[in-house]
Amino acid sequence: MCGSSQKPEVPTPSMPEHKIPQVTAKRLPLYYRYLEKLHAIGKQRVSSSDLSDALQIDPATIRRDFSYLGELGKKGYGYNVTYLLQFLRDFLKQDEVTNVVLVGVGNLGTALLRYNFYRSHNTKIVAGFDLDPAKVGTDVDGIPVYALERLPEVIKLHNVEVAILTVPLSAAQSTTDYLVDAGVRGILNFTPARLTAPSRVRIHNIDLTIELQTLIYFLKNFPGEESD
Ligand code: NAD
Repeated sequence: MCGSSQKPEVPTPSMPEHKIPQVTAKRLPLYYRYLEKLHAIGKQRVSSSDLSDALQIDPATIRRDFSYLGELGKKGYGYNVTYLLQFLRDFLKQDEVTNVVLVGVGNLGTALLRYNFYRSHNTKIVAGFDLDPAKVGTDVDGIPVYALERLPEVIKLHNVEVAILTVPLSAAQSTTDYLVDAGVRGILNFTPARLTAPSRVRIHNIDLTIELQTLIYFLKNFPGEESD
């Protein structure tokens, strides 16, 4: 299906030695998805202004992002799609599937199970967990919902390192402790709780209220400025 079926003469990508900023790292999956589309239709080159039009990201930001990744493009030539795709795939480890579990199959949890991050090839929710006996033994779009007691066993079986937390606030810390004991190393926390965990465990908090308020703040205070 890919248009550029001949082996491109591109060097093997090498990973950058320095750390890239988090804002750049967050944009890399966007670039990756778009480059996949270009590759599928056989496009060999792309300029930062093409990427900018498609992704609504300022071209200077794109050039700066790519500059963190090394020598990826030439002036007046643009970027080689295959090379960039190969590079980002290695960088994002797109070929490695990360299995994820979700705890708390309520309103939000069910929506996230349905979503199952379908645009990403490398993450997959393998199971949901809930206290409610009415939910245990059911499935959400094919993803099984288990009793909490089975969490350690399922985590071990699927080599799960990441969990999504969508339990009520009151259960957030105890569930986190349980997940950490079971071997989870990363938690995407949708609850309003500020969780504590050992430093080896990374917690990302998704607080929709704060996100919305921040957006409104920027609109009010920096109306004409571009975001980074
Ligand atoms: P909900 O009440 O619909 O769902 C919570 C689920 O967790 C229920 O199925 C319940 O049985 C289960 N549960 C309770 N204690 C548990 C435990 N110890 N272990 C496992 N499962 C347990 O709640 P919701 O609206 O889906 O919200 C979930 C969390 O996400 C809350 O902390 C909420 O503040 C936060 N949140 C919700 C929304 C939203 O739009 N609904 C948005 C942002 C954040």
